[in-house]
Amino acid sequence: MSEPLLSVQGLEKHFPVTKGLFKRQVGAVRAVDGVSFDVFKGETIGLVGESGCGKTTTGRLITRLIEPTGGKVVFEGNDITHMSQSRIRPLRRDMQLIFQDPYSSLNPRHTVGAIVGAPFRIQGVKTEQGIKKEVQDILALVGLNPEHYNRYPHEFSGGQRQRIGIARTLALKPKLIIADEPVSALDVSIQAQVVNLLEDLQNELDLTYVVIAHDLSVVRHISDRVAVMYLGKIVELADRKSLYDAPMHPYTNALLSAVPIPDVKHRGDRERIRLQGDVPSPLNPPPACRFHTRCWKAQVVCKTEEPPLVELAPGHQVACHFPENADKISAPAAAKVARNVQDAQHPKGTIA
Ligand code: SF4
Repeated sequence: MSEPLLSVQGLEKHFPVTKGLFKRQVGAVRAVDGVSFDVFKGETIGLVGESGCGKTTTGRLITRLIEPTGGKVVFEGNDITHMSQSRIRPLRRDMQLIFQDPYSSLNPRHTVGAIVGAPFRIQGVKTEQGIKKEVQDILALVGLNPEHYNRYPHEFSGGQRQRIGIARTLALKPKLIIADEPVSALDVSIQAQVVNLLEDLQNELDLTYVVIAHDLSVVRHISDRVAVMYLGKIVELADRKSLYDAPMHPYTNALLSAVPIPDVKHRGDRERIRLQGDVPSPLNPPPACRFHTRCWKAQVVCKTEEPPLVELAPGHQVACHFPENADKISAPAAAKVARNVQDAQHPKGTIA
């Protein structure tokens, strides 16, 4: 397989929690806690999970908007984790972020021309005349009228503003785009247009995406592979079809069971799994399997041994001692899972 365009290795972000006048550290919010995945050229990987699972922080760490506590980010073979801002600036041309909220991410005092042209000015790569021509071409590419170059954000609808945000990220022809909840602030009727636009642009410009979203329907539509995060960790990573057709982690199964299926014929006998309780605090996450406080399959081992993220079927990684859809697990891993089940039925110290 070719080298990944982006490789995230054991990435961590722990935000210190301080107390008192002298700001003594009394703990840490483990927002991202050992996340690893590769992204290959031309693919789209979706990062999903409930609010607070660490997906947005992961996106910000990749683009170095915030500094990691540990782990590595390798982009095109270069370790950019601790690169100085002056060295990372040229790389920012290749790696751009689409923000969630098209209302707050555009400066209301700047015209569309100033907003979309800003990356050229910051990087100093074009003359003013060249910038105007380039910006108008990009506006046309994202389906906006190039004549609106001198208009202000408030003159556009939500969908059009997100197109302006996308145009800004495309200005310097990046290789990788991190899209953080790109459609969640938009009306449902507009969401499909923006998702389709992202797909068209990917085909036209050979882009690679990391799409961060809580909406599993959007991620299903746009992603080649999907990583499910829970409390700062990836619990399942697989290609879209395997993950949606046969999820192996109980948390993924619960998330998918909550996705509405409009066509009654396709609902089958699928039952909604209602998770008990809230997501625990990342300040004090449960030991071992972090999902054990809400998991209906939890056994003693889940509370004492952290399940590693391992490949249970080709390309399908799962962190669970007792995965679902066991018939899809390949032979060596199936034997290990069977042993876990047997041990759970006859815990050590009991007589079989
Ligand atoms: Fe549930 Fe145990 Fe699997 Fe965690 S390891 S998801 S608690 S079955």
